[in-house]
Amino acid sequence: MYKSTRNHEETATASEAILRGLAREGGLYVPEVIPKLDKKLSELAGKSYQEVAYEVMKLFLTDFTEEELKYCIHSAYDKKFDTPRIAELVKKDGAYFLELFHGSTIAFKDMALSILPYLLTTSAKKNKVKNEIVILTATSGDTGKAAMAGFADVPGTKIIVFYPKHGVSPIQEKQMVTQRGENTFVIGIEGNFDDAQTGVKKMFSDEVLKEEMDKAGFQFSSANSINIGRLVPQVVYYVYSYATLLAQGELQEGEAMNVVVPTGNFGNILAAYYAKQMGVPIARLICASNENKVLFDFFRTGCYDKNREFILTSSPSMDILISSNLERLIYQTAGRDAEKNAAFMKALTTEGAYTITEEMKAQMADFYGNYASEAETAKAIHDMYEKTGYIMDTHTAVAASVYGKYKAETGDDTKTVIASTASPYKFTRSVMNAIDPSYDSQTDFALIDELCRLSGVAVPQAIEDIRSAPVLHDTVCETEDMCKEVKRILGI
Ligand SMILES: *Cc1c(COP(=O)(O)O)cnc(C)c1O
Repeated sequence: MYKSTRNHEETATASEAILRGLAREGGLYVPEVIPKLDKKLSELAGKSYQEVAYEVMKLFLTDFTEEELKYCIHSAYDKKFDTPRIAELVKKDGAYFLELFHGSTIAFKDMALSILPYLLTTSAKKNKVKNEIVILTATSGDTGKAAMAGFADVPGTKIIVFYPKHGVSPIQEKQMVTQRGENTFVIGIEGNFDDAQTGVKKMFSDEVLKEEMDKAGFQFSSANSINIGRLVPQVVYYVYSYATLLAQGELQEGEAMNVVVPTGNFGNILAAYYAKQMGVPIARLICASNENKVLFDFFRTGCYDKNREFILTSSPSMDILISSNLERLIYQTAGRDAEKNAAFMKALTTEGAYTITEEMKAQMADFYGNYASEAETAKAIHDMYEKTGYIMDTHTAVAASVYGKYKAETGDDTKTVIASTASPYKFTRSVMNAIDPSYDSQTDFALIDELCRLSGVAVPQAIEDIRSAPVLHDTVCETEDMCKEVKRILGI
């Protein structure tokens, strides 16, 4: 069963938790116990991504039948990915880059969002849901496109995405506003990602709206990583990467590895933490932030304080000051005490800050936080290219830069996996400028061709698709009007 982080009485089965997205009172669903792997990692070594996915996900999604879960896995992880391995491990400059961007929208969000529509529609069937499901999503740039790609024309669903109008990369925006599908809606807001996420969470906990929706035959669910159906598929690739390194003889059985994760909403790194709880020998969880370094400060001081300037950076998918999934770690380290957690979250809403106890902080000792400035991020891209010819995107570069700081600080030479969260093609301008500032005078598509020439990596289909695609969405609204827009779309 799953429990809410804010109310110990609220429980749900896995499929109910996926359907609802968010628990009442704004709580997040967490499994009552994080399951242990029931196979040795050496048994998983050499297995396909789909096989490992089944072994991991069956332990979390306990009310899905084997047939249902395998159907979801095989429908998701197929030719939509441009590599049969789904996630690639590439060894460069002393680390293993776990390339999570081989899906249809070329960012790591595809790893979970290509399966979520199947998990959700299966959950709806299991629970005999009659309503049409309205996926309400806030995006810092990548979730929106990946969720729409997953849900486009899925019967019984609509998807509404809110993104910060002035806070995403040009390619991210183009990818979203050219989205096809009768059931897809994209709206830019005059605000930042936190405004979008707060607005969405508010609609989720609005009981009056919920009733109006129900009357009209609709109910909300979420494609954000607050949905457990997003988180569970993300655990898979940490298990898979360990198993792959075992199979390749890069790791010996039982040998520890570190992971470095470029972090925004804390979903990806939380998945690595869950993988560790399941029994993957992960030593340090290295949390890499950009200049919005609220998590770096948190891990140093124990005080989470969002009262600071919101900075727009070249890694926009990490421009976040309210990292929603941290709540699941807070709940866990507060002794799975919903009341205590709810008090911290209330302080975050009312004062914008909270401070955890020393005891909680001690339980987070495996986490190491640091950040990379804009200049350091660019330098990481530049230096990696000069040294190895490998071209990283800006988010991955934040992680690589932080890994450099970690190694210099600790001297730790444990084998390390760096989550590589986006294709450089998604952030072409920032990437090319980092390699040589004189590229800045060229057009986006000229830069794409030049990136292809330098990297020797073919231009992904996702980029080819937007070269000539017509803009199909152009709505922009104020943050206060998000609910009004939802009602307009639904005709209620
Ligand atoms: C979403 C995203 C991140 C941040 O992941 P979280 O799970 O929100 O911490 C990092 N990089 C890229 C490219 C992303 O799209």
